[in-house]
Amino acid sequence: MSESVNRQWCLVARPTGMVQTSDFEYREAPVPVVGEGDYLVRTLYVSVDPAQRGWMNEDPGYVPPIPLGEVMRGGTISQVVESRHPDHAVGDIVSGYFGWQEYALGSAGLMGAQTITPEHPLPRYLGVLGGTGLTAYFGMLEVGQVAEGQTVLVSGAAGATGSVAAQIAKIKGCRVIGIAGGAEKCAWLTGELGLDAAIDYKHEQVGERLATLCPDGVNVYFDNVGGSILESAIAHMARGGRIACCGMIAGYNDAAPQPGPGNLFLLIARRITMAGFLVPDFAPRFGDARRDLSAWLTAGRLHAREDVQEGFENIPATFLRLFAGRNLGKQVLKVADPTGSAA
Ligand code: NAP
Repeated sequence: MSESVNRQWCLVARPTGMVQTSDFEYREAPVPVVGEGDYLVRTLYVSVDPAQRGWMNEDPGYVPPIPLGEVMRGGTISQVVESRHPDHAVGDIVSGYFGWQEYALGSAGLMGAQTITPEHPLPRYLGVLGGTGLTAYFGMLEVGQVAEGQTVLVSGAAGATGSVAAQIAKIKGCRVIGIAGGAEKCAWLTGELGLDAAIDYKHEQVGERLATLCPDGVNVYFDNVGGSILESAIAHMARGGRIACCGMIAGYNDAAPQPGPGNLFLLIARRITMAGFLVPDFAPRFGDARRDLSAWLTAGRLHAREDVQEGFENIPATFLRLFAGRNLGKQVLKVADPTGSAA
């Protein structure tokens, strides 16, 4: 290990309203010393995820808040650069939660590290084959319970989770409509991804388009955004429909909660089921899901797209891209290339 400086981005302020790059501070710390039974990893790719915005808040959500002054929590693809651990050899590629820093001890990773034998490009293990792909898989199949011939609606459809969820519904023989912001994203949905229709919520009336596109209603709505789009979707659900509540990004940067959907009585009138879920609950089945996702990728039935930004200094700005809708597909940031046989 020749490097002596560990570059870090630490959380230094709890945002009220929209997250700012100034909520993070660049720091330099010594590279950790590897003790017996431990190993050192170097970050190759950092994942930025909307959920991290919630972890910055004071109130505990489903995980404890990130303490002020600490390295920003986040998923990474990393490489083992030094090891005194029998199961982690130098050169191994691992995925884990090592945060926004260049080096970390294996023992410091939240929820441990998983060794990857790369068969696909590395950023894919943060996207389709990582948390967002698994979320799409279980959200669509287990919570949404899609079946052939159904009409399926997906919001945030050009993002990491939504784009995979929508394609899984297509693979299962559904008619799929995606909602996304902007013409370029909508063209990708109906072009390369083969969706049946797309709604540009920034330039079209979602309710009007749903009335035209789904005269018999939506059977399954996979919701990534909440807010007014959720209300429009509820208004166009079919009797007995299911709403899989995956995320509510439209409200993540609100300083105060917005009023909820005004039409929840339709859940009763139309016997609609609305269920939230968190992907870690399905952890015992991740292996099976990854096998399916990988096979669909290899067979060309599932298209993956990563939006790869570069440069450690750009991590906070890359995180903010999510809330401006600047990402197409999974947003990641490349810190370094792997070395050795993984290169
Ligand atoms: P992503 O969709 O790749 O990126 C976020 C996208 O959200 C942006 O590209 C943007 O697309 C859209 N967006 C941003 N602000 C919006 C707003 N105000 N209204 C509507 N759309 C907005 O991110 P992701 O990682 O796949 O996450 C998508 C959702 O899934 C998030 O809500 C996240 O919290 C949730 N999630 C849940 C789980 C779980 O276990 N339940 C796991 C992972 C992710 P447009 O350009 O289309 O606006």
